[in-house]
Amino acid sequence: MSLPCHVTRSFLLSLLFVSIATSASASASVFSEDEETQISHFQQYLRIRTAHPDPEYTSAASFLLSLADSIGLQTLTLEFVPNKPLLLLTWLGSDPSLPSILLNSHIDSVPAEPDKWVHPPFSATRDPATGHIYARGAQDDKCIAIQYLEAIRSLKKSGFTPLRSIHISLVPDEEIGGADGSMKFVQSEEFRKLNVGLVLDEGQASLSDEFRVFYADRLPWRMIVKATGSPGHGSRMYDGTAMERLMDCAEAIARFRDCQFDMVKAGIRPASEVISVNPVYMKAGTPSPSGFVMNMQPSEAEMGFDIRLPPTVHLEQLMERINKEWVPAYKNMSYTLIKTGPARDCNGKVLLTPANESNPWWPVFKQAVISSGNKLAKPEILSSTTDARFMRALGIPTFGFSPMASTPILLHDHNEFLKDEVFVKGIKVYESIISALSSFKLASSI
Ligand SMILES: [Zn+2]
Repeated sequence: MSLPCHVTRSFLLSLLFVSIATSASASASVFSEDEETQISHFQQYLRIRTAHPDPEYTSAASFLLSLADSIGLQTLTLEFVPNKPLLLLTWLGSDPSLPSILLNSHIDSVPAEPDKWVHPPFSATRDPATGHIYARGAQDDKCIAIQYLEAIRSLKKSGFTPLRSIHISLVPDEEIGGADGSMKFVQSEEFRKLNVGLVLDEGQASLSDEFRVFYADRLPWRMIVKATGSPGHGSRMYDGTAMERLMDCAEAIARFRDCQFDMVKAGIRPASEVISVNPVYMKAGTPSPSGFVMNMQPSEAEMGFDIRLPPTVHLEQLMERINKEWVPAYKNMSYTLIKTGPARDCNGKVLLTPANESNPWWPVFKQAVISSGNKLAKPEILSSTTDARFMRALGIPTFGFSPMASTPILLHDHNEFLKDEVFVKGIKVYESIISALSSFKLASSI
């Protein structure tokens, strides 16, 4: 049947309207009342200013303790350093003698520059069009603290009982090295008593639809190179100046850096699996009232490098390279290496957690993520450093995992956000992970 032209046009227009209205509503997710409460808890936590240099730890602790109370978890506040509370929350298993699961998250965050943000960084503004929740700490790593808690709340509500105990540690000072937080915690009697079998700590967002998981952190080293040489007039060409020697060192390091970077650019290795060496400062010259004396070659020069090493790296080979190629002593150069943390665990093993069948926790974790309807990317080494290194140093298997797929990596960046939908989905993922890991019966020794 054919329709008159004007009828056809209005019919098509109405169809178009329906189609636009449908696609608009499809882009905004609809959440249940419980999910809206979960999102609201996340926003409340984000609004507490726990950014350095003056994190509001006390307010954060009382907020987190009240959430833990509302779930019925056991709580313990440890204070290894005054005014730096570390919260330990426990859901006791039916067999507390089994090695437990520890879910770790740091309370602090890096500072933010409010004028560079589209919404104030401690407002936790939720954009109604996109669902993005903007706040410092949204990805790094306040999301996981609330996801742990809400996943446990949901599991408890469903009547689930864990076999092994589940602990959550909420720790201060990760962003400034963890010396007054996780480092002291893992050395404490309280930690020892937890009999931790597996730790989950923070990971990073993933641009793809696969979650990322990290089995090691790179080792952070700092290298300060000092060169000395004969001073002289700026017009003279002569050998053995401090600057010339330092430039030789910088060139040798730049060549090495290029080789490492080329492997990343060619896709041969991920960035976290090469040695990165980046110059971070240079100090030389003779100061003058207007800047520096320009007609004088200085007798001393110094340069600082940030070095990050995959834990699998051959340390002896690297030391040989430093001594022979980068900073040879015969060239009147010396260096200081500052190694923040050990390269091996307490058993003398490389500081990493096997992400394969040799680790009985791994298949359980992996299957739990898949069972929740999600994908897991190939396990990676994390480019930077987290508190996980303290647990790995004790020989405790530790994975870095933050369930944020299809999300730009915005940790420490302006306009850090997490989409509400991604946050809520993460709670379901942890429900699957916690129930699987807490029910898992290990064969023997661990
Ligand atoms: Zn973090």
